[in-house]
Amino acid sequence: MNGAAPAEGAARIGSRLPPPAKNLPLESVREKAGLARDAQKLWRRYTLTQRVERVRGFWRELQASKDRLVAVVQRETGKPATEIEVMELCGVELILKYFTRNAHRILKDQAASRPWIMMNKKAYVRYVPRGVVGLITPWNYPLLIPLGDAIAALIAGNAVLLKPSEWTTDTALFIEGVFKATGLFPEGLLSVAPGDGTVGSEVIRQSDMILFTGSTKTGRLVAQAAAERLIPCVLELGGKHPMIVLKDAPLDRAAKAAVWGRFANSGQTCVGVERVYVEAEIYEAFTERVAGEVAMLRQGLEPGYDVDLGRLIYPRQLETVLALIDDAKAKGARVIGGELVDPERLVISPALVLDAKQEMRVMREETFGPVLPIMSVRAPEEAVRLANDSELGLAASIFSRDLVRAETLAAHLEAGLIGVNDLMGHYAVCSLPFGGFKQSGVGRRHSDDGLRMFCQSQSVLAHEWPANAPEPWWFPYTELKAKLVAWLTRLS
Ligand code: NAD
Repeated sequence: MNGAAPAEGAARIGSRLPPPAKNLPLESVREKAGLARDAQKLWRRYTLTQRVERVRGFWRELQASKDRLVAVVQRETGKPATEIEVMELCGVELILKYFTRNAHRILKDQAASRPWIMMNKKAYVRYVPRGVVGLITPWNYPLLIPLGDAIAALIAGNAVLLKPSEWTTDTALFIEGVFKATGLFPEGLLSVAPGDGTVGSEVIRQSDMILFTGSTKTGRLVAQAAAERLIPCVLELGGKHPMIVLKDAPLDRAAKAAVWGRFANSGQTCVGVERVYVEAEIYEAFTERVAGEVAMLRQGLEPGYDVDLGRLIYPRQLETVLALIDDAKAKGARVIGGELVDPERLVISPALVLDAKQEMRVMREETFGPVLPIMSVRAPEEAVRLANDSELGLAASIFSRDLVRAETLAAHLEAGLIGVNDLMGHYAVCSLPFGGFKQSGVGRRHSDDGLRMFCQSQSVLAHEWPANAPEPWWFPYTELKAKLVAWLTRLS
């Protein structure tokens, strides 16, 4: 079978997958939010050291249940076990290590400079937890995304109300179960509200801050709802990663990077390679290597470690992927692979789209599936121009042996996450802010600011000496005072 789903196949798409979670009644969402609010009032009084120790304790318990956890993620997503361990569990561990090791430095009061005219005062910034943080998360990394963000929000002193994707709710419920069972936290400090966008909307109504990860389309709705309540809202949205391969690129590394960068997580990664621009001189050599690498990928759904590729997670995604492949074919691309192996379980074989053109939908819309389009370009400048010809700007990469030139060209790429001879590793380097330009998001997770964003900054100005003297700018106003303050201001 090749390309588009047959009519009866379309009806069967995803029919052998577990159904999406039912909506928690909105009244129960409100109850959970109330409990979270009460729990946070206790939690914020724990010292930072206590919070860090308890979060570490929770992580140890979760690790002790690793096999069961991996099995739950496997069942919900069909991912290879190696991928769950490496990309999700190890990813969370690196995030946890960064925030637990650095929390004291990041969240301690920060002394602020003050003008000379106020030398007799103390100025500093305190970081005060926001309260209840609502996390609304997608299905592609059901462990890494919610847990990594929950850890940061909790360490900063907040409660967490998590609305996971309705397609990957069991993973979130497993996390909640272990969290509760540790007995280390006030009751209800982290809780899960299963369901679809209706529940998501209620979570926005009940929270003091929203961190949303998902599509650009939904992100816009979430931003509107948050604006209505005037609560801060950080948006981590879709991507259309352009990978640029210059003619002096290390070809083997570039080909392997393209294949992992696209087919890891079966292509369902926001920072995954969505399109490749290759200089014409090496187009044949590069695509040959890529085709060789793709041919070696092992696809399977049995739980196990020695598999590279699983299935898709979300039924509609398969329809999108098939439609984009069909569009590319109709516009003259050569497609290798992309066979619908098992529509009922959303299995599609990896697809290469050769001779891709910028006007094809697969080069313009987020594919979010195992499809790698490769286009030939005449010069690096053309590649950069085409790379930037997108409303999205999450990740981009460039491959060349000339690091200086590559880094210079990369400075012209409109994306929040740049890889030079590298890609998709930013999430694990938690000291780097993670987020997108343009329609790929607003705000950043991770880094020092990504922990502070879960707090409100509180600016403190404390008068020190002389204890009882009034300020020269207070009442009563006189001309002499005006001159004195102006003179002191000039000196400052
Ligand atoms: P989605 O936008 O369909 O759903 C995301 C979440 O929002 C789900 O939990 C969903 O139930 C909820 N939701 C839906 N409507 C809502 C509403 N009106 N109000 C509140 N919540 C609502 O996205 P998806 O299909 O689950 O995930 C795939 C998308 O996520 C892709 O576009 C991908 O690029 C993006 N993503 C981005 C990042 C990043 O860090 N930038 C990471 C992973 C995935």
